[in-house]
Amino acid sequence: MTHHKKKSRTIDFLHEEVPEYGSPVTVLDGVRRIVARNPSVMTYHGTNTFLVEAAGGDIVIDPGPDIEAHVDAIVSATQGKVSAILVSHGHGDHVGAAKRLQEETGAPIHAASLPPVANTLTPDLPLSDGGRIGDLSVIATPGHTRDHFCFARLDDGLLFSGDHVLTWSSSIVSPTHGDMHDYMRSLELLIARDETHLLPGHGPMKVEPRAYYEGLLNLRQRREDAVLAALLKGPQTLPQLVRRIYPHQTHEKAIWAAGQNLVAHLSKLVAEGRVGEKEHQVWHLLE
Ligand SMILES: [Zn+2]
Repeated sequence: MTHHKKKSRTIDFLHEEVPEYGSPVTVLDGVRRIVARNPSVMTYHGTNTFLVEAAGGDIVIDPGPDIEAHVDAIVSATQGKVSAILVSHGHGDHVGAAKRLQEETGAPIHAASLPPVANTLTPDLPLSDGGRIGDLSVIATPGHTRDHFCFARLDDGLLFSGDHVLTWSSSIVSPTHGDMHDYMRSLELLIARDETHLLPGHGPMKVEPRAYYEGLLNLRQRREDAVLAALLKGPQTLPQLVRRIYPHQTHEKAIWAAGQNLVAHLSKLVAEGRVGEKEHQVWHLLE
């Protein structure tokens, strides 16, 4: 979601021009990006599909949404030579094109064997933390969703972060598919690593991202503090909390996303025994 000036002083979000959809652009040595034409308030200009040069054909990271023109662009850019299709997580704007791309290229699909992606497909090769695919290392980063993985190219310090970390905004932690506690731990995991180039699922590349990760973690901690402070005034419904904590959000989808994020914070606080939910979606502080 979008943030206002107050927050961009502490978190350095990046912006870029609308890209040329369907055109592969070299972002780093052996790495090309194609942006899918699925712009929205949730996806920025669209989903990034990365083509990583590898023996036997490019590795495709996040085939993207199920848009025929996007699959055609990937096939054309790779001349149909794809050695692996990697899926960061099971949201449709990342996994939607996986089967169609597989039909076109015959490449195996590497994805989590957990929902939500498991509701969509059975991977040829299930991802697991510490696994290797060509030059890429697999890192389990649950939080945005339970099935989320990042991919690192250790030789030159690249991190393909899917939706775990975006560069144009903070990520949604879905209360149904995700977990705020895990999300914060997965941010700590990246802070402890040494990657120098962050390549997200939406938005431009960011160099030297550690301070940015720290800013995102700090944002979550401050948001949790804001939830607790709001509940000091008495029991609150979700719309009341959204209005208090995100007073500048006006776009319907952004308000919905803010509410989802708050539910994720509240679930974490309920699990920790700090907040109670007396009636459905009415929260109060526990002593
Ligand atoms: Zn997602």
